[in-house]
Amino acid sequence: MSGKITGIRGMGDILPDETPLWQQVEAVLRDTLQSYGYRELRVPVVERTELFKRSIGEVTDIVEKEMYTFDDRNSESLTLRPEATAGIVRAGIAHGLFHNQKQKIWSGGPMFRYEKPQKGRYRQFHQFDVEAFGFEGPDIDAELIAISARIWKKLGLDSIELQLNSLGTPESRNAYRNELIEYFGAHENSLDDESRERLQRNPMRLLDSKHPDMQALIKAAPRIADHLDSKSAEHFASLQELLGDIGITYTVNSRLVRGLDYYSRTVFEWVTDQLGAQGAICSGGRYDGLVDHLGGRQTPAIGWAIGMERLVEMVRISNKLATDTGPDVYFVAVGDQASRQAFKLVESLRDNAPDLAIELNAGAGSFKSQFKRADKSGAAIALILGEAELDSKSIGVKALRNTEEQETVSWDGIITAIRARLN
Ligand code: ATP
Ligand code: MG
Repeated sequence: MSGKITGIRGMGDILPDETPLWQQVEAVLRDTLQSYGYRELRVPVVERTELFKRSIGEVTDIVEKEMYTFDDRNSESLTLRPEATAGIVRAGIAHGLFHNQKQKIWSGGPMFRYEKPQKGRYRQFHQFDVEAFGFEGPDIDAELIAISARIWKKLGLDSIELQLNSLGTPESRNAYRNELIEYFGAHENSLDDESRERLQRNPMRLLDSKHPDMQALIKAAPRIADHLDSKSAEHFASLQELLGDIGITYTVNSRLVRGLDYYSRTVFEWVTDQLGAQGAICSGGRYDGLVDHLGGRQTPAIGWAIGMERLVEMVRISNKLATDTGPDVYFVAVGDQASRQAFKLVESLRDNAPDLAIELNAGAGSFKSQFKRADKSGAAIALILGEAELDSKSIGVKALRNTEEQETVSWDGIITAIRARLN
């Protein structure tokens, strides 16, 4: 059999024309987190299926229908990670990172969910994650939100809005759950099939339903704010004060829920109307019960995750970042002898000036075709080595982006000449 093998639906390639923007966005994220004192943790892309079932919860879209699960050759059930928090918590427990210490962590990489692919929604996508362990808050809740706000600022994005809610504690939520079951139960005929099925097991998930027929019902549903315990209400009020202190505006959205038992108190989402239907850029929340639930000691925790495809798209359409990533210099060498000498020369230039980015023409070609490539590379300067220059051990230095005159310098004067022109 021969012929073309296609990629997998919903799993995209990020092409060389696109990666410069990704790299810039990634650098902003990384630098911002490092500057706030967060450190990177890298975890595997594959974990035991049980980890996700237990941490994300059985009655969720992810576990019910989105996971890439398979048996390995030893008949162990493994799953491609649909999100990063579970793996981070597993690693933290395994390495004792939560024992008598606080941790500020960031992480990131590809995630996998079997969803219906569409713009902004893919089967392989990338997240950038931040998690803080060992902090009760609400100062750390405010810090995590401040970090995301600073990231939008650095990227020049101003149309992302913050929605905020508090879920209280699992205990205080119980009464609310029962009230929801009663409320939606009384309207059972108006529920979509999925919601009807989830009603008893995870009624808060119904508030998350995107089903059009459900929206009016959801809007009129009882509010969790009326069921907050006093400590959670205090926590939520302090968080709002802290956000007010640094001028971060938000909307309290009482329908914003994450219907999992171990979530507690703060939940938030950054949304935009610039990306069509998939407008959630970043979502996060406090999950004080998860470390304990996965076998560690009780450890307060909070985190958020950015959907990178959506963020990069947002930066792309807002057009605020310049992505000039060409080399400094393109080395043009015409003729066999000159090409061979160029190869030696360029390596010694790299030894002596490691900060300069120098692309050497590969695949020979005439002056004309090499200059075309030089121009396309984005380089500021071309070095030119032909037979004549080879004989006199000299080289031509030519500006590609302005009208400065071409000059000829000796080989040992190349770096000085380049630097003079780059300044
Ligand atoms: P949604 O309601 O859009 O499905 P979610 O609640 O499943 O979102 P999270 O699990 O909170 O999303 O993931 C955090 C972020 O990751 C989202 O806000 C979004 O930006 C991004 N994201 C989630 N799923 C996808 C996907 N399939 N493709 C691209 N980005 C995604
Ligand atoms: Mg989803």
